[in-house]
Amino acid sequence: MSIYLDYAATTKMSDRALEEYLRVQRRYFGNPNGQHHISQNAKAVLEEKREIFAKAVGARVDGTIFTSSATEASNLAIKGLRTTRRVAVISAQEHSCVLSPASSSFEVEKVPGAVDGTIDLEALEKIVRDQATSVGLFALMAVNNETGVMQPLQEATEIVRRYAPQAKILIDAVQAVSYLDLSWLFSFGDMMVISPHKFHGPKGVGVLYLKDPKSVSAIIEGGAQEFEKRSGTQDVASIAASAAALIEARERVDESWAKTTIARDAFLKGLVDSGAEFRVNGDRTRAIPSIVNIYFPGVRNEEMIFLADYEGIAIAAGAACASGALKPSHVLLSMGMSKEEVRSSVRVSFDSESLVSEVKEAAVTLGKIAVKLGNPSAL
Ligand code: PLP
Repeated sequence: MSIYLDYAATTKMSDRALEEYLRVQRRYFGNPNGQHHISQNAKAVLEEKREIFAKAVGARVDGTIFTSSATEASNLAIKGLRTTRRVAVISAQEHSCVLSPASSSFEVEKVPGAVDGTIDLEALEKIVRDQATSVGLFALMAVNNETGVMQPLQEATEIVRRYAPQAKILIDAVQAVSYLDLSWLFSFGDMMVISPHKFHGPKGVGVLYLKDPKSVSAIIEGGAQEFEKRSGTQDVASIAASAAALIEARERVDESWAKTTIARDAFLKGLVDSGAEFRVNGDRTRAIPSIVNIYFPGVRNEEMIFLADYEGIAIAAGAACASGALKPSHVLLSMGMSKEEVRSSVRVSFDSESLVSEVKEAAVTLGKIAVKLGNPSAL
């Protein structure tokens, strides 16, 4: 048995994306930055795909920058930001690809999370009011990758625009592409990042959207590709496969939402029926259906992940260190959970391709593991 419940980490490439990859790799292998017709044909494919990405969010074509990952796109947005202001106001729940570069380029003011998994808007207001003219950057993700909770982008960005209108707003939409309206998300920010491997595209591609292309300068220099924002020869086949995955994901938003909800609810019902004691972290009614974070009292998450894997079930928790060990999740800690609760929490993530039969089976198995680990005398 092998049941994949780690879709928030990555997804499998779709058939359409894979076929597009092969088609473009075979026919358009030229360097898209050269002079001759083989290069120019590859360049035409690259620009056609850029337009697809730009249109999907209502961005400018020259503000649609291909990178190697959302991590690189966030680094470019933050380290490359042209600002003289010294403060970055960052939600404490951001991915490390935002928190880390922000800490090395700015004085970071972290905004804590509330118990329901959203950013604490009162704390945000206090911070931006106090720092007003010093704020150069505000970053908030659309959907948290550990809890699935959708962030109140409208309210949060209104606060920032009111007190610090000069600040550039970065939106990490990496977990949102299959579920939310991208133009609506981009309407709240100045910059946005997405990552095709999270929506059945290939790994190795990221996109940075810029409303004002002049707001950012390159952090990787060389051949001045990507409107001089990101040097390096583009992987045209992977970008084309990413565009195919984007079109597919956007066509299927309603279906993904509906099917994934069925899978998640079947899983949670199975867990209730298993008799295991558990609690969902964050407000599930504010979350996209693909991610649930679950606290199992008395259970060590590392042990649970190991035993689940032994039974063929792939789940996750927090962020893995280079050593493979688990760090206590900064996201759950920022929501006010104790270290003990955080160490007893795991992330289970679904997709529209998750089968009800397999999620039910996983719930039974995880329930049994939780009962055993939570009650060592029964071992
Ligand atoms: N932002 C969020 C919310 C993520 O979940 C991830 C990946 O886990 C990233 C950024 C980084 O994306 P990439 O794998 O493309 O670097």
